[in-house]
Amino acid sequence: MRIAVIGGGAAGLMAACRLTDAGADVTLFEKGDRVGRKLSITGKGRCNLTNRADARTVMDNVTTNPKFLFAALNAFPPDAVMTYFEETLGVPLKVERGSRVFPQSDKASDIVRALQTHAEKGGCRFVRARVTALKAENGRFVSLEADGKILRFDAAILAAGGCSYPATGSDGQGYDLAKALGHGVVPPKPSLVPLETTGELHKALMGLSLKNTRLTLTDKTTGKTLYSDMGEMLFTHFGLSGPMVLSASAHIREMQKNRYEILIDLKPALDEQTLDRRLLSDFEKYSNRDLINALSDLLPAKMIPAIVSVSGIDPHKKVRDITKAERRSLLEKIKELRFTVKGFRPIEEAIVTSGGIRTDEITPSTMESRLVKGLYFAGEIIDVDAYTGGFNLQIAFMTAALAASAIGKLMKAGEGGEASKDEKKDGRKMKKIINIAIDGPSGAGKSSLAKGLAKRYGLIYVDTGALYRTVGLYASRCGIPLDRIAEICAHLDKLKVGLGYESGEQHVYLFDEDVTGLIRTPEISMYASAVSAQPAVRAFLLETQRKLAREHSVVMDGRDIGTVILPDANVKIFLVADERKRAERRCKELLEKGVETTVEEVLADMKKRDANDRGRETAPAVPAKDAVLLDNSSISLEETIEAAAAIVEEKLK
Ligand code: C5P
Repeated sequence: MRIAVIGGGAAGLMAACRLTDAGADVTLFEKGDRVGRKLSITGKGRCNLTNRADARTVMDNVTTNPKFLFAALNAFPPDAVMTYFEETLGVPLKVERGSRVFPQSDKASDIVRALQTHAEKGGCRFVRARVTALKAENGRFVSLEADGKILRFDAAILAAGGCSYPATGSDGQGYDLAKALGHGVVPPKPSLVPLETTGELHKALMGLSLKNTRLTLTDKTTGKTLYSDMGEMLFTHFGLSGPMVLSASAHIREMQKNRYEILIDLKPALDEQTLDRRLLSDFEKYSNRDLINALSDLLPAKMIPAIVSVSGIDPHKKVRDITKAERRSLLEKIKELRFTVKGFRPIEEAIVTSGGIRTDEITPSTMESRLVKGLYFAGEIIDVDAYTGGFNLQIAFMTAALAASAIGKLMKAGEGGEASKDEKKDGRKMKKIINIAIDGPSGAGKSSLAKGLAKRYGLIYVDTGALYRTVGLYASRCGIPLDRIAEICAHLDKLKVGLGYESGEQHVYLFDEDVTGLIRTPEISMYASAVSAQPAVRAFLLETQRKLAREHSVVMDGRDIGTVILPDANVKIFLVADERKRAERRCKELLEKGVETTVEEVLADMKKRDANDRGRETAPAVPAKDAVLLDNSSISLEETIEAAAAIVEEKLK
């Protein structure tokens, strides 16, 4: 199935990875110049990618619509996210205070790179384009418009983010795409955002950060406590910030000036009586000092003048003269320093936006739109959000993985959408994809057999040797001598090798040139053999072969089809024949094409090539464990096809 992922953030990248894992043909659209921009600045550039918490704790940390996330969490809990990053993507992780998970390298860019590379390896195309419309027909998603072009897909995952940090690309445009299809959007507002406070006190404390304090958020109109926690916070020129403040902000659903109050308990470990005893003993110790100089055992230096001032006591009053009432006032301020909330900092400064696509319009078990079939949502665009600590990225990853797995299940069930139906109309796609792998040494008759089987069962014949030959042709054209063939690897990033079919015949293209007629010479055979021992060349051609086999039922011939390219092929045949027989056949073929050669010459070249193919380190030409060996030294082509057909039918029974 052809799937579009819209948005190259945390959710989009994870969706692309999981979709390619499931064998989908994925195109990811990102309007910015690179993917993962916001991801690479999260956690101060260290990327707090999840929180190693149990399901209950994760749910407790989701502030909006936690129930909607049950299925997603179940499908991809933090442990599974960690295993995926460590084992599949190869990024070692570590767990820090508060169960926060980071890459061991402390580099967010490693996370972005790992996701992108994995998706790329799986064949995902990254397209830099702005998606401007999603189109549905009869309640089903059919196509999208990107940079003015209409492109058809079987399904799309909309992972276009919210509207925090617009500089990184999250500009809320995804909401408009969904709205145009009838989706309701809970108006976005900042969540996890610093708070501006009234008065001047925060200015006096600017730059001070506190640990082990208790912060409580109350709604003055109802008297209710909305949030209370112990931890870190800091004072800034506009008000309050830091982890607890960001978390508290997520509980303010409707911002009104002067409605909310933040109470800070500077000594949460001491109850009032204990604190009073502490004050008394400090006062005894420093009885001759001014009050302002007597509190340094108890409070940070910057806090002392502020507390004394809000307590209404003369800072230079001698400690021995402080009255009981004054001590009481001091104690109250230490236990409950009050700040009135003026407003949120601008949405641009929010780490997360709350609001987004209404969750009652999305099926929680699949992330599919209830309004438009084939349209899925993932990540911040959905009206869910959570506290800091890795929970929001966990949500992005788990909703993306759930959408991808729902699409993967549809693929398994063979329910293609319109785009794959188009292919079916062309007669190119069979309902169930069948892959037959034919491997064996040169001249064993693989291509004749493969063509015979393809014809018999209506499958596409793929000659992978032609791909290696085309790379070989290019190496020869570049003037690279055979003994320095590794130099070809430096050319691969610009090289384009394509496969096409005309009247049922396979054609190969070097850039746009059809080179099918130029690659079957003894010289190019030797070049093909040489380039094929380069691991980078093999990696370069891998996806072309796999993609064909994913999308079409094929009979593919080569050297490593059953072992490396299609380890899950339905049928694997390893065709062998004795050397001289093979050389005689090949020689005859070449002579018919007008190439002057002799059996001895062909035999010598063949021996060299076979030794290369068998002896190379990557993908040596050996039979797969589950391959059936077929020796055709003394049977005709027709008999070989019959014997192979019997193997195929037995395997597919
Ligand atoms: O099959 P053919 O002889 O056209 O392949 C040319 C060369 O390409 C082979 O000798 C082999 O070295 C290489 N090859 C390969 N793996 C394949 C197909 C071909 O290494 N799957």
